[in-house]
Amino acid sequence: MYPKSLQQLIEKFKMLPGVGEKTAERYALMIMNLEKEEVEQFSNALMEVKTKIHKCSCCGNLTENDLCDICSDPQRDKGVICVVQDAKDILALERMREYRGVYHVLGGVISTNKGILPSDLNIKTLTDRVNENTKEVIVATNPTLEGETTALYLAKILGEKTNVTRLAHGLPMGGHLDYTDELTLSKAMENRHKI
Ligand SMILES: [Zn+2]
Repeated sequence: MYPKSLQQLIEKFKMLPGVGEKTAERYALMIMNLEKEEVEQFSNALMEVKTKIHKCSCCGNLTENDLCDICSDPQRDKGVICVVQDAKDILALERMREYRGVYHVLGGVISTNKGILPSDLNIKTLTDRVNENTKEVIVATNPTLEGETTALYLAKILGEKTNVTRLAHGLPMGGHLDYTDELTLSKAMENRHKI
C-alpha cells in the first residue's frame, strides 16, 4: 500500500475515463517526480477550468465569458441556428470551416428509455431564441433513435416559426458527430433536408 496522500492521488486519477489501477499509479508517480512549480501549474489548470468555464448564456456552449466566441462574433449569421446535443459537437462542426451560423447546445437528447424529457433539455431557451429573423434551424443531433426523436420533436414545436432541417443521411446510423470526419460532415450539412 502506498502512503495515504499518494494513494489518494491514484484514486483521483482512476476517476478519469479509461484509466485503470496501473495507469493511475504511473500518473501519480509521475506527478510526484515533477518539479514543485510544474505541479502547481497542473493543479491551477484544474481549478481554472472549474472556476472559469461555464455555459454561454445564449447557446449553452462552453466559455469563460457571458457569451461564447461564436455568439459574440459579428461575422456569424445569427439567423441560422445549428442544434447539437453536446458542446463537443460544436468543435466537430467547426473543423469543417464552412458553417457560418450559430449553435444551440441541448445538453442531451430526448430518451424514453433513460427518462429524459424535453423539459430536461435546453429547449426552452431555443424556442425563446427563434424569432422572425431566424431563417433556419439545423438539427444536428447524432444519427441515433434518440437523435431522430429529438429532431422530430423540434420540427413539431419550431416548424411553424421557421424552417427546420436535418443533416442528410450518410452519417452512419448510431454514430456520433464528433467521430465523423470533416468530409462526411460537410456533405451531410450540404445535403440537409427539411423535416
Ligand atoms: Zn454562445
